[in-house]
Amino acid sequence: MLVLQKISQERGRQESPKLTNGQRQFQILHRTTQESKNLEGWIDDRPMISLICHGHEGFYASGEKSCHKHNNKRSSIYNLERTMASQHTYDSRSTKNVIPLRPVIKDYAWGIRGLDSRVARYALESGIIDEVDPDCPYAELWMGTHPSGPTTLRDGSTLEEAVGGPLPFLFKVLSAGKALSIQAHPCKDGAKRLHVENPENYVDDNHKPELAVALTPFEAMCGFRRLEEIAILIKKHPEFAACISDEAKLKCFLAGPKEENKRDALKMLFHSFMSCPKETSSVQLKLLLKRLQKEQSCDFVHPHEEPPWERKLSRAILRLAQQFPGDSGAMAPFLLNYLLIAPGESFYMAANEPHAYVAGEIIECMACSDNVVRAGLTPKFKDVDNLVSMLTYSMGGPTINAGTPAYGDDRIMRYTPPTGEFEVMVITCNPGEDITVPQLPVPALFIVIEGSGNTDNDDGQRLVMRPGRCYLLPKDCPSLTLAVNPNKRGPLRIALAHENQHMDEPTLASAAEIGTKQWAGEFALPTELRSVGSAPNTPRSSGVMSPILNRNSNGEAHVGFYEVPKL
Ligand SMILES: [Zn+2]
Repeated sequence: MLVLQKISQERGRQESPKLTNGQRQFQILHRTTQESKNLEGWIDDRPMISLICHGHEGFYASGEKSCHKHNNKRSSIYNLERTMASQHTYDSRSTKNVIPLRPVIKDYAWGIRGLDSRVARYALESGIIDEVDPDCPYAELWMGTHPSGPTTLRDGSTLEEAVGGPLPFLFKVLSAGKALSIQAHPCKDGAKRLHVENPENYVDDNHKPELAVALTPFEAMCGFRRLEEIAILIKKHPEFAACISDEAKLKCFLAGPKEENKRDALKMLFHSFMSCPKETSSVQLKLLLKRLQKEQSCDFVHPHEEPPWERKLSRAILRLAQQFPGDSGAMAPFLLNYLLIAPGESFYMAANEPHAYVAGEIIECMACSDNVVRAGLTPKFKDVDNLVSMLTYSMGGPTINAGTPAYGDDRIMRYTPPTGEFEVMVITCNPGEDITVPQLPVPALFIVIEGSGNTDNDDGQRLVMRPGRCYLLPKDCPSLTLAVNPNKRGPLRIALAHENQHMDEPTLASAAEIGTKQWAGEFALPTELRSVGSAPNTPRSSGVMSPILNRNSNGEAHVGFYEVPKL
């Protein structure tokens, strides 16, 4: 259905936008008299067709069943959107043209609802929806060639046809209003096996390493905590301890400093927690929530030695339990690192690393796959056995990275994972400036994240940039120049994804790949091993207490504390 959207009743002809791509004539039928009228209109890159209607009541646009009704006797400007979208001025056969795309929207239950969701606003701007339902969750926007959501061009052909084959990556915008499931993605071999065994739940046979760049403050659980941290949490929270077998707890406390033993202990612990009978876990969860709630209340005096991360952890558990009542997955923050990253910061999740995104909006890029092994915080299919057996059990979180300047320009930040399928660039163009995006030997997809401006390409094509519009930059497309008018109030920012061109200089790594150099979790434990019985060599100053597993002269493990100096 054609949607006519009134811009303003007051704006006259002289204030209309300039003709950019040529004036056109449109025929409009009067609703009651069926009298036809030729009207003037113009078209911009969207294409949006604005019409001037001369004081009539109720129009049909040419060839359409119904449209907008109005009673305004004066001239009004209307935008005829979307159904006219095919009249766009680009040449899809030319390899020198930037091609507007129609991404695909996913309305998973965890999405942010209505216009608060960036996905909804972007979808509206890119013309794939006519209106935003305030009650509908808008979770993901997909740009790519994955069969579960292939992006199309405005003429109805597919991105895959335009590129000449499938793209190795899938580019997304994610708006998470509540937690996504606790999940991991299989490696290549794992994905092949799962796809053969269970094609209904594992839709393709590809691995799915993924990279997230925050658009808003973003909360996520990524990778296992260090075993020492988990040991402390077991001691402090008897309800969590009750969901784990004595054998697993013992192994955790007696693991010692060897990485291999720690991994074994962690695997046993995770397996034991995940296979805890529901009767036990739900009773313990209730007890835990009751206690945590009491401790959050104003008449409970916080012990001063309780570090802030523990309060953060308690709040996270309470919030997850509210979102997924009765799901023992709410205890996941006991096991997984809880991160908060700022806009522009990123992390990378390799295959077989557990994670759960909690809240916020991100740009996400991954290998072209939709394989998710879920274990909790979801009404969808859970596959605990596969999850337990596939994980790497490396500990500590991923590296968090705010990008590295690329092409000698610090307005182009690259986020490069150690995998060949993809990398992401975020390009910021300030008012009064212009930036030339280098010519790329691979096809790239880009989406405008914020601000407005325009692009000119060497082939003479000009496009207006607005948040949510997304495009294909064909392989070897003439270089593109972004420009922002000096009177704009903020920068134009676009995110661009393509096959990895900087494989030898990754900016991101997962916990398993960087070993002991990794981000050390909540406690920032020193990586060198302590000698038996010796006093910690950390300087004594006022700071938070951190635990460490020590052994006495008989070889028995006990948990000790040392102070982490305040930064
Ligand atoms: Zn994931």
